[in-house]
Amino acid sequence: MELIKYPNPILSKKCTNVEIGDPEILDVLNMMSQKLYEWEGAGLAAPQVGILKRVVVIDIRSEPKRLYKLINPKIIWKSEEMVESQEGCLSLPILKDTILRHESVGVEYLDEKFQRQEVTATGFLSCCMQHELDHLDGILYIDHLSKLKKSIAIKRFNKLQEEKNHEYELNNE
Ligand SMILES: [Zn+2]
Repeated sequence: MELIKYPNPILSKKCTNVEIGDPEILDVLNMMSQKLYEWEGAGLAAPQVGILKRVVVIDIRSEPKRLYKLINPKIIWKSEEMVESQEGCLSLPILKDTILRHESVGVEYLDEKFQRQEVTATGFLSCCMQHELDHLDGILYIDHLSKLKKSIAIKRFNKLQEEKNHEYELNNE
């Protein structure tokens, strides 16, 4: 499993539902969880590892510790109240921006036994759920920025990537 980074077109594709009982998806969930910790993210969606299925793992490093493995997750309600959310994304390294998210959301999903579950997420977990579920519809957090702010963010991202590549070349000469 490799991390898919912007601007790979995979990140803007819509994912399909997981078939109930699909045994392979459990391996995918386990591998994604490993990668989540290895890459030190708060959440990881399947398209970020090149799999176009509706699967997400989330661990916001809260106490008590909880790793969410979500199959076919769906937001079933969202609060009217919005909060500012400072976001970054493993697929857009280094970049950070502030966008608005719903302060709380209700998420319905299937667990590893394909049983229907529901979770109420507030605060950071809510923002994280919205960010990861967006990935399943090909939406990145920068897509929530105004046109102008998005183009500034992309320019900044490209510049940072260029600098990084340049450094890499220098170190490998
Ligand atoms: Zn992301």
